[in-house]
Amino acid sequence: MKLTPYGAAQQVTGSCHLVEHDGYRLLLDCGMFQGRDEERNRAPFGFEPEAVDAVVVSHVHLDHIGRLPRLFREGCRAPVYCHPATAALLPLMLQDALGVMVGDYERGLRHGADAPEPWWDERDLERLQQHLVELPYYETAALGPFTVELKNAGHLPGSAFVELAAGGKLAVFSGDLGNQRKEVLADPEFPSRADLVVCEGTYGDRAHRPFQATLAELTEIMHATLKAHAKVLIPSFALERAQEILFHLRDLEERGRIPVAPVFLDSPLAIRVTRAYANLQEVFGMEVRQLFDNGTDPFATAALRCTESVEASKSINDFEGAATIIAGSGMLHGGRILHHLRRHLDDPHSAVIILGFQPPGSLGRALVDGARTVRFFGSDHEVRASVHTIGGFSGHADRDELLEWLEEQPRVALVHGDDEALQTLQQRLAERGQRALVARHGEPIEV
Ligand code: ZN
Repeated sequence: MKLTPYGAAQQVTGSCHLVEHDGYRLLLDCGMFQGRDEERNRAPFGFEPEAVDAVVVSHVHLDHIGRLPRLFREGCRAPVYCHPATAALLPLMLQDALGVMVGDYERGLRHGADAPEPWWDERDLERLQQHLVELPYYETAALGPFTVELKNAGHLPGSAFVELAAGGKLAVFSGDLGNQRKEVLADPEFPSRADLVVCEGTYGDRAHRPFQATLAELTEIMHATLKAHAKVLIPSFALERAQEILFHLRDLEERGRIPVAPVFLDSPLAIRVTRAYANLQEVFGMEVRQLFDNGTDPFATAALRCTESVEASKSINDFEGAATIIAGSGMLHGGRILHHLRRHLDDPHSAVIILGFQPPGSLGRALVDGARTVRFFGSDHEVRASVHTIGGFSGHADRDELLEWLEEQPRVALVHGDDEALQTLQQRLAERGQRALVARHGEPIEV
C-alpha cells in the first residue's frame, strides 16, 4: 500500500490523499483549499480524476469535501463512500458553498472586477450525489484489494476515521478528530493498532481550555446581558457550532441559569442543518439521544425563531428587548452577522461572543484584540458593546487528546496542521519512541 498526500500536507486545508495498491486507486477526501491557498482549488489535482476507483469521505467540512464536485466535473465516476449522516449533510454544505461562490462571482461582475468564474456547478454536484454510497460505522466495504471500515471520529455528525486493510497491512486515516470534552457528539473512538496512522495535527501544539470553565463563562455573559434587556450576538459556523450553542442555551434556560428570551437562528444553512439533525439521532452523545427519546428537541430553546428569508432576517432589526442572535459567518468574513454588528456594536449593554479562531488581519481579530472602532460595509463603527472570546468550543482534539489517540501506534504520518503544530507533535511522539514523520505534498509514503 502506498499513500500520497495531495492536500493538507504541512497545511490545514485541502485534505486529499491517494492510496494505491495492486493498481487500485482509493481517494481519501477531496477537500477545498481555504484562506490564502484558495487559488489552488483551480490547479490540477496531481492525479487523474477518471482513474480514481473509489472515494472515501471522512466528514462534511468543506476542507474535506469541497473539491469533490470538481473531481466529477473532470471525469471521476467512482463510488463515494461515507457515513449516512455525511451523505445527508453533504448536499446542504455544497449547495451553500456553490451559492457563496456564485454570489461572489456575480458581485464581482457587477462591480466590473475581473472575477474568476465558478469552478464547478449544479450538474457536477448532482453527478456527485448520484455516486454517494452510505457506509455505516463498523460495516466493511470491499473495494478492489481494500477492506474499508469507518469508525466514529466525534468531530461532526457522521464524521469518521477510516481503517483500510490491503496486502496484509492496515492503515488508518484520522480525518479530523473531535474534542472529547464536549457534550453534543459521542466521543471519538480509538483506532486499531496499525502499520501506519495518517493523523491530523491541527492543535498538535495546544491544549484547550477546560470545557466547564468555558460553559461557566458563557452562562455569566448571557445572564448579565439578557437581564439588562440587551442583545447577545454570537457569530457561528452553521454546522455543529450553532447547534451546540443552541443545545447549551436550551439546557441553561431549562435549569433557570439564564433568562428565557428569543433566540434568533439567523442562518439559512444553520436552520437546514438543525432540521437535518432530527434524523441523525444515533450519532449524538447520550444526553442528546435521551432528549430526542423523550420527545424533546435538544436544539430548540423556549423561544427559538428561525429566520430563513432575508425579510425575516431584516425584521430582527426592529426587535426591542433582550434576545440572542446566532448568525454566520463564524469568522466574520461576511454574512448576516455583519448587519447585526452594525446595528448593536455601539450599544454598551450588548455583548458579542466570539467562539472560534479569528485569522490575523480580520474584523473578528480586531474585535478580539479590543479595537475601539472597526471598519466594515465601507464605514467605521464604534465598539461599545462588550466583546468576549470564549475558548473551549473547538471541534478538534487538542495536543493531549491526539497523543492519547495515538498511544498504541508504532508509526505515524502527520497531516492537516501548520508546521509548528506538526513539528511539536512529531517531537512529542518521538520522545515516546514512536516513529513520526511530517507528510509532504506529492511525496508517497509506503505502508
Ligand atoms: Zn473538520
